[in-house]
Amino acid sequence: MAERPSGVKKNEARTSPVRFRHKHLLAISDLDRFEIESLLARAEAFAPLAEQKIKKLDTLRGRTLINLFFENSTRTQSSFELAGKRMGADVVNMSVKSSSVAKGETLIDTATTLNAMRPDLLVIRHGASGAAELLSQKVDCAVINAGDGKHEHPTQALLDALTIRDRLGAIEGLVIAICGDILHSRVARSNVALLTMLGARVRLVGPPTLMPAGADRWGAKVFHDMRQGIKDADVVMMLRVQRERMDGGFFPSAREFFWFYGLDEDKLKFAKPGAVVMHPGPMNRGVEIDSGVADNPNISLIETQVRMGVAVRMAVLEALAESGSNAGAR
Ligand code: ASP
Repeated sequence: MAERPSGVKKNEARTSPVRFRHKHLLAISDLDRFEIESLLARAEAFAPLAEQKIKKLDTLRGRTLINLFFENSTRTQSSFELAGKRMGADVVNMSVKSSSVAKGETLIDTATTLNAMRPDLLVIRHGASGAAELLSQKVDCAVINAGDGKHEHPTQALLDALTIRDRLGAIEGLVIAICGDILHSRVARSNVALLTMLGARVRLVGPPTLMPAGADRWGAKVFHDMRQGIKDADVVMMLRVQRERMDGGFFPSAREFFWFYGLDEDKLKFAKPGAVVMHPGPMNRGVEIDSGVADNPNISLIETQVRMGVAVRMAVLEALAESGSNAGAR
């Protein structure tokens, strides 16, 4: 087994990992700044492991992790799987398409069945907001929300924060523009909560039809003009246009969306010189982002986001596994 990598490099002095006091990770809005800093510190220490030849630890040896994905996923599911395996856990990926869920089993029945198998950690992605919370009430193990409807995607926000810190050093004081389909985005909701808590000035940029009512009360400034919205921004975070959650015409055509809100080199000139670009994936190239921007390694942090995703999920699994053995956890 490899040594657990230690040493938090660059950035400001980090909070050292402390025992996580929550039983589950359901939403960023359940956490405080100290808890977020502590999870990021753990993840930062795990990040160098990916560069080592032997990437395996035994922190979760003997523990069982079940991945339960009701919505498609490439990055999130595989990175939870890798994170669990790198920590030494036994990982089971439930394929919803071939499971009893496809035969009409309810979420609660599925939860009861899985609970009887006594997993230690259950990762769930579901199309309904609140599904992770519901599951957490029905099982004995720790539940991690890997995206519930339009509500939250906490590990995405943590990996985004880690990526920004890796490149820009600190989050406090940065101007971060989150752009595109805000309405359907759990990534936007989790990120606004996390980034504002860490002291960033967050902007939400998108057409009125894709801006949730009351977004101006999230603690971010709302813009409908892309150039104004990204003006002097340090970070431009693009979101996927989520057609699968749209039940009508939210914009006239993909071409028109790209013209007004797609990030290309021309629009990016309005951001701060040296600004970086992020996207949680999967990308709709030519709709919300141009390949010239997405594939430019000098400005695009998209690959780093994927790399940091594994480290963040290792940190979350470790923190929850520890807190599971803490009688006071809730
Ligand atoms: N992968 C992210 C999510 O599951 C972003 C997206 O799908 O657009 O929310």
